Amino acid sequence: MAKDAHLLVPVDGKVHLDKIDPKETHGLSEARAKTALIRDVQALSELHDLLYANGKRALLIVLQGMDSAGKDGTIRHVMQGLSPQGTVVSPFKQPTEQELAHDFLWRVHQRVPAKGAIGIFNRSHYEDVLVVRVHHLISDQVAKERLRAIRHFERELDEAGVIVRKFFLHLSREEQAKRFEERRQDRRKNWKMSAADFQETKLWDHYQRAYEEAIEATSTKDCPWYVVPSDHRWYRNLLVAKVLVHTLKELKMDWPLPAEDAVLAAKASPGAGQGG
Ligand code: AMP
Ligand code: MG
Repeated sequence: MAKDAHLLVPVDGKVHLDKIDPKETHGLSEARAKTALIRDVQALSELHDLLYANGKRALLIVLQGMDSAGKDGTIRHVMQGLSPQGTVVSPFKQPTEQELAHDFLWRVHQRVPAKGAIGIFNRSHYEDVLVVRVHHLISDQVAKERLRAIRHFERELDEAGVIVRKFFLHLSREEQAKRFEERRQDRRKNWKMSAADFQETKLWDHYQRAYEEAIEATSTKDCPWYVVPSDHRWYRNLLVAKVLVHTLKELKMDWPLPAEDAVLAAKASPGAGQGG
């Protein structure tokens, strides 16, 4: 068992978000966490190369969280070592007319990474049981059906070789208010803000309940959710990185052998193996 096992606990059954402290750091210092992150980013890079070389499995990372919880930041910091070839980031915004004309998983399925690749969802199919639910655009019955559809969809992905790992970036209301204020005052960031962002904060508790229900209904052994305390960016980054490293290490991948004809061709080729 990994020595960090206590940090890597997926949701199993009930989840009470108000019992999980968004400020949690498990006694880790920022300096140590940052050093550990550098190591994990390096490890991820190598594991990604192995995943790509083997071409048998894909990894799908789902990032969800309230506004400013750090979905973009996590992508920037944790995924910085991944080779751009074989990494696809997919942001999910309000569905287009064409997307709305299809079932809710249609646009999502198209963005699932191919074997050998890592796909990162910045928001995801879960918006279809979160934002639309909080705004009463679907009934509880439809929400239930969608959660069941998501469970089946993800199980099917898992069976097809796509490893699914889902992260809820758990932010406190106070920290969100602080970040909004920082954003508002920062010329490089305030373009990101909309009136709707402020409106959504009023629905905070509704979102928390919708998240709890979605996470409980869809955290399975094979496609687990992790609740990541995210008030401290450095802790959030480290935790996500650790789960990903652990997940890929568990595959016990090795470098594939060269094709037999390549070995024979190399032997037959004069001067082969003499460097140059
Ligand atoms: P951002 O990620 O900040 O660029 O914002 C994207 C916005 O699109 C958020 O307000 C999401 O809630 C919204 N969004 C994403 N997916 C859906 C969906 N399926 N239905 C409605 N709104 C969505
Ligand atoms: Mg936004």
